[in-house]
Amino acid sequence: MAKKYGMIIDLHRCVGCGACDLACKSENNTPDGIDWASHKIETYGVFPKVTYTHTPTLCNHCEDAPCVRVCPTQAMHKNEDGMVVHDPSLCIGCKSCMLADPYGVIFFNKEHAFLDYVTDDSSIVKGGTFSKKELSDKAKAPFPNFNAARGAGGYEAIRRKGAVEKCTFCNHRVTQGLAPACVVACPADARIFGDLNDEKSQISTTLRAHKPTVLLPEKGTKPKVFYIRSYN
Ligand code: SF4
Ligand code: SF4
Repeated sequence: MAKKYGMIIDLHRCVGCGACDLACKSENNTPDGIDWASHKIETYGVFPKVTYTHTPTLCNHCEDAPCVRVCPTQAMHKNEDGMVVHDPSLCIGCKSCMLADPYGVIFFNKEHAFLDYVTDDSSIVKGGTFSKKELSDKAKAPFPNFNAARGAGGYEAIRRKGAVEKCTFCNHRVTQGLAPACVVACPADARIFGDLNDEKSQISTTLRAHKPTVLLPEKGTKPKVFYIRSYN
């Protein structure tokens, strides 16, 4: 049977440290304002009796994904493992998927991210500081957090202007038998990634042992990112 990948986030284990957000940025070298892994914080009560919740968020790789349904070019599509992935070479940047996605997890690249690290040779203090280009040349990395493994995994290392992007469940790692970067980085082991079609997998047994919830169930997208227990 084909695999169907999903993720559990155990809110009781989550410490709200944001290591997942940072690991994603480091792995996928996303620039400021483009956060494939993110979180929402909600506060309740009136000072001094205030409490809050921290909920990590990412693309839900929805079973019934509206972003896939509306894409006119099949750039946004489902792969054979049930992940919702994106082919930038087919993307015409129409943003239909962004409008259809109720979770707000798709981002449009309005500029070539980090291009200045390849082109900008000016330094703030002449002779006193590295220019961006000098820095990347000396570090032998074309831009911050350049990840050759991501490029080798079939994803463009320098992202395209005029196309959209979002979380890929670290497909480039999963195809090599590795877990997504956010799962590995979590110091509290709050994330479980695995095959929902395998009854014996940790994700399947954990889902059976809890009452999982999903974000915006009323949208009918059948998310494959599940939350168990609570932050408080
Ligand atoms: S969360 Fe949004 S981007 Fe991800 S599969 Fe669902 S609708 Fe598409
Ligand atoms: S922006 Fe790209 S991925 Fe999104 S609907 Fe348009 S062509 Fe498809």
